[in-house]
Amino acid sequence: MNRHMEILEVWEARKRISSLVKKTPLIKSLAISERAGRPVYLKLENTHEIGAFKIRGAANKILSLSDDEKRRGVTTYSTGNHGMAVAFVAQNIGIEATVCISSRVPKMKVDSLERLGARLEIVGESQDAAGVRCFELEKERGYTVIEPFDEPYVIAGQGTIGLELLEDLPTLSDVLVPLSGGGLLSGIGLALKTNSPDVRITGVSMERSAVMHESLKAGKPLEMEESETLADSLLGGIGLDNRYTFDMVEEYMDQLVLIPEEDIGYAMAYMMDKERMIVEGAAATGIAAVLGNQIPHQNGALVVIITGRNVDLSILFKLLKTYTSHR
Ligand SMILES: *Cc1c(COP(=O)(O)O)cnc(C)c1O
Repeated sequence: MNRHMEILEVWEARKRISSLVKKTPLIKSLAISERAGRPVYLKLENTHEIGAFKIRGAANKILSLSDDEKRRGVTTYSTGNHGMAVAFVAQNIGIEATVCISSRVPKMKVDSLERLGARLEIVGESQDAAGVRCFELEKERGYTVIEPFDEPYVIAGQGTIGLELLEDLPTLSDVLVPLSGGGLLSGIGLALKTNSPDVRITGVSMERSAVMHESLKAGKPLEMEESETLADSLLGGIGLDNRYTFDMVEEYMDQLVLIPEEDIGYAMAYMMDKERMIVEGAAATGIAAVLGNQIPHQNGALVVIITGRNVDLSILFKLLKTYTSHR
């Protein structure tokens, strides 16, 4: 057992978030099962209101705050799925959420955060400046910073996916988990390995800027330059002062698969074609690992976590053009 967290925290998270977060469907993909020669299931975390699983961790953290903390409000500097999750949860329980963003954040993201009722604080030109402002607000106004992954309540919230899998498919033998900061894999790992130690957990990242991968190889958290990728939700570091997810990923992850850009794009197009489903690049990495035969062959049921659906139409348009023109 890891020294930081207990399975009980995941069960408590399940109760705590049940009013805001509904169980998501687990469906068998006939096309991918046939191709892989084994049963392949998709855990549809793209079906949450905000289109991504991050609502689980954000809800668990925010709902566990004291009344006083709730009254003062919460803040974050993520403009991606975590930022949307924080804004959504805050709006639903009637507390204020401030998202610190740089002036470079695209209008589409600004609009969707505003639609979720977030107060925006625009600072500087970089994500780093936004992060600094976020912690200033904590000091100046008593807001609580909601961390995106290296936080026990967030990890426990993401772990509720593991509990749902154990209920719906107790015979599962493999799970593929898109991996960035590792909150998702840590939570699912804690839930699954505590109950079914033989389940194999595979982390999946893009080839470019796989920070957790490089950090594990080096034996300590590293910083890396970001490069553009279709799996944009997997960008970002793991924190040089990482407290939980580095150790937990090391403990729970059996193997890590890195996916080239072309394969991510192909998997996104494949999901539209075969499943009539939109998945964002981060979520397509698991599909790509199966389609590319990168998972050692076994007969048992395999689950791919479809983590989100938030991708620009212009990207889908390009992919459809590429993959329908040369039939
Ligand atoms: C955040 C995110 C991930 C990775 O989660 P971590 O906890 O950072 O490892 C994967 N897919 C999507 C769509 C995400 O938004």
